[in-house]
Amino acid sequence: MTKDYTQQDSIPFGEIALHVITRQEHNISRKQISDNALKVLYRLNGAGFDAYLVGGGVRDLLLGEQPKDFDIATNATPEQIKHLFRNCRLIGRRFRLAHIMFGRDIIEVATFRGHHQETVKNVSAQSDEGMLLRDNVYGSIDEDAERRDFTVNAMYYNIADYSIHDYAGGVEDLEDKLIRLIGDPEVRYREDPVRMLRAIRFAAKLDFDIEEDTAAPIEDLAHLLRDIPAARLFEESIKLLQSGYGLETYHLMREYNLFQQMFPLVAEEFTEDYSSPTEHMLDLVLDSTDERINDGKRINPAFMFAAILWYPLNRAAEKLMDEQGLSHYDAIMEASNHILDEQVKSIAIPRRHTATIREIWQLQLRLPRRSGKRAFRLMELNKFRAGYDFLEMRGEVEQGETEELAKWWDTFQRAPREVRQSMANAVTNDKGRPRRRRNYRKKGSKSKS
Ligand code: ATP
Ligand code: MG
Repeated sequence: MTKDYTQQDSIPFGEIALHVITRQEHNISRKQISDNALKVLYRLNGAGFDAYLVGGGVRDLLLGEQPKDFDIATNATPEQIKHLFRNCRLIGRRFRLAHIMFGRDIIEVATFRGHHQETVKNVSAQSDEGMLLRDNVYGSIDEDAERRDFTVNAMYYNIADYSIHDYAGGVEDLEDKLIRLIGDPEVRYREDPVRMLRAIRFAAKLDFDIEEDTAAPIEDLAHLLRDIPAARLFEESIKLLQSGYGLETYHLMREYNLFQQMFPLVAEEFTEDYSSPTEHMLDLVLDSTDERINDGKRINPAFMFAAILWYPLNRAAEKLMDEQGLSHYDAIMEASNHILDEQVKSIAIPRRHTATIREIWQLQLRLPRRSGKRAFRLMELNKFRAGYDFLEMRGEVEQGETEELAKWWDTFQRAPREVRQSMANAVTNDKGRPRRRRNYRKKGSKSKS
């Protein structure tokens, strides 16, 4: 891509202007775009509509990276799009999007968005008034560009002549490695506070800096995240922490006071010099998650949440032991409810994950009790692997007995059967008495899910 693209194509556009970068002046080739996305682009264009690849697809291709997905923008209305594609579903109420389905691959097609009042209320997608505003919702490509978040996300690849339409100086910011909001940063963050998280996410993922004016208001406005629906923040938390750049993203989020809004219980453990067990655990679990993603291994969000919340859980349990004289086991059970209830207020971790989080925590209480047949039974449990992997991380943080225990389990798993049996027989200092658990069960107070 050449930096000195032609200025003669510029047209006035608010504070910003359109630059057209011709096919000869950039490095995007159609070979890099998925067949399905190309099919949709060509079909729209063939029917007389404008059709552009936009957003992360263009940005990542210009950077020489493989895009996660391909988003398309067009002047065709959702109804017109539906007419063109048999495999099309319209989704969303206020602003309707078309999903063109190719088996598991979904190409999202959005009609150009126009200017309209955008407030935090609308973001939560609860208002019915949206239906009345439908007519005002669609707009021109210029308007569409202006309401996108960052300059590097507002570049449009035109299927008609393979040129790139850069509305907000995205090409230049891409070369300077800058995340810059379009428009007035404070206004844009107030419209949609999630843009603060997106700024951090792209900075970490692309290894870009956040432009000064874009960065400046974040710390003060971070509290606005508390108004965002917890379900949306769950989705965002996964994109932030489970996309291969989680460690860097967490550190940046923390610097801008954003992590603290999403994980208030975890933030209570934070220290000036990053020296608490929770902070050590965050580094370990996010680092290993990043590594697993980069190695193409599977990851389970429940594992990460279980690790992040483990020391806050223990602190809460200790309090219950002190104040109410509960046994360790009962206190952990009770505190699990409390910690998860609190956490889901900001991040709506789905039930299937909270169930796994509890299992991983419970295993921490069971793994020390491994004499006789117990060790063999534990290994057969569904979540044994996750429980053991977590024990190993705890060993690194806590050292001492926990580290010894993790080593014992490591040896046990690798050993031949006869050796295992003698290892299990040799265990004499099983922690926690079975009676405690029977007491707990007799009370039958809480279900374990
Ligand atoms: P990636 O898919 O790699 O995470 P992306 O830039 O494609 O990055 P998406 O969430 O897929 O991000 O959104 C597609 C495009 O929609 C963005 O590039 C941006 O132009 C626009 N967009 C998404 N979310 C917002 C938002 N909250 N405010 C304004 N524009 C947004
Ligand atoms: Mg995308």
